[in-house]
Amino acid sequence: MQRIYLDYNATTPLRPEVRDAMMPYLTEAFGNSSSIHAYGREARTAIDTAREQVADLIGAKSPSEIVFTGSGTEADNHAIKGLTELEKSRGKGNHHIITSSVEHHAVLHTCQYLEQRGFEVTYLPVDRYGRIRIEQLREAVRDTTVLISIMHVNNENGTIQPLEDICEIAQEHEIPLHTDAVQSVGKLEMNVQALGVNLLAFSGHKIYAPKGIGVLYIRRGTRLANLVHGGAHERNRRAGSENVPAIVGLGIAADLAKQEQNAYAQHLDALTQRLRQGLDAHIDRLHYNGHPDHCAPGTLNVSFEAVEGESLILRLDMEGICVSTGSACTSGSMEPSHVLAALGLPPRLAQGTVRFSLGRNTTEAEIDEVIAKLPKVIQQMRTLYRG
Ligand SMILES: *Cc1c(COP(=O)(O)O)cnc(C)c1O
Repeated sequence: MQRIYLDYNATTPLRPEVRDAMMPYLTEAFGNSSSIHAYGREARTAIDTAREQVADLIGAKSPSEIVFTGSGTEADNHAIKGLTELEKSRGKGNHHIITSSVEHHAVLHTCQYLEQRGFEVTYLPVDRYGRIRIEQLREAVRDTTVLISIMHVNNENGTIQPLEDICEIAQEHEIPLHTDAVQSVGKLEMNVQALGVNLLAFSGHKIYAPKGIGVLYIRRGTRLANLVHGGAHERNRRAGSENVPAIVGLGIAADLAKQEQNAYAQHLDALTQRLRQGLDAHIDRLHYNGHPDHCAPGTLNVSFEAVEGESLILRLDMEGICVSTGSACTSGSMEPSHVLAALGLPPRLAQGTVRFSLGRNTTEAEIDEVIAKLPKVIQQMRTLYRG
């Protein structure tokens, strides 16, 4: 059976162009970029090129503002811990961080960790579609606020945060701003200079590069403590011999993402609309959880009434359709994800939630097949439902 992959927010396949560009660095061009001989210089040049490509994708002023990390998660950790640790070492009494209640665990769990270490954290609530209210951010700012960290696009429902307004408030109060842009880079236009963020994280495997490579943009002048200590790699900001093949792959993926951003967004948008119209036409009692006006293309988060999500995912998997639920199994019972909980979805509805996330290789035929199969599956599941 031909499988249909609709889980691109979880990860994307390597693009063939990316794989081809990586191959030499997995084989003959194996040098350590710190070596001064020809092998080393070859690796160094490849990394320099990739750094320029990545800087270009997000509109950084200089490639020197780009640090390669081991993942998007590490980039978020580096931004948040690196900045707060430096503030703490400067004294200044209490320290306060503002974030949102719908962040990825890479940010949320890092903030919770810092809370245990004496930081105070405000987790901004969100509206029913997962957007923070800008007045609530304004009210949350304190004299002791050392960092605002708010994601650009949510991974579960695609909702876009009002990043321009958030930036304005951060600048007004001279508070550094970090954004987790893992789900927006490549789909939405991104210009860190125009926007004015201090720190921005994204990840290779969400833009058709390999897993295990991430990026932290650090605006010139933003000071951070290091997370990983050792050699002088990455301008003394992240020690460890560079993952040259992955960095090269990410550079090519960034270059392609920049060239194709408009077409990619249009492709995703058209297919997302097609899916939504198909669901609306054939299934009743459903709710969309993404923001009606501020939603990144490619993500459709749907709650089906009187359906148990985990069983639905397994049934769809049997049909060859690969999607995600909005719930996680915690101690045997299905708990809605923290994002769905923050939207205020009743648990019964949160339980029946599915995330469709589309990508480059998604076709109209695949969407049509989902629309052909899903109504029957939902109907069967509803007859079995005893919530
Ligand atoms: C995937 C993801 C991450 C984590 O990136 P990794 O490279 O998998 O560590 C962080 N934030 C968001 C919003 C994501 O979707």
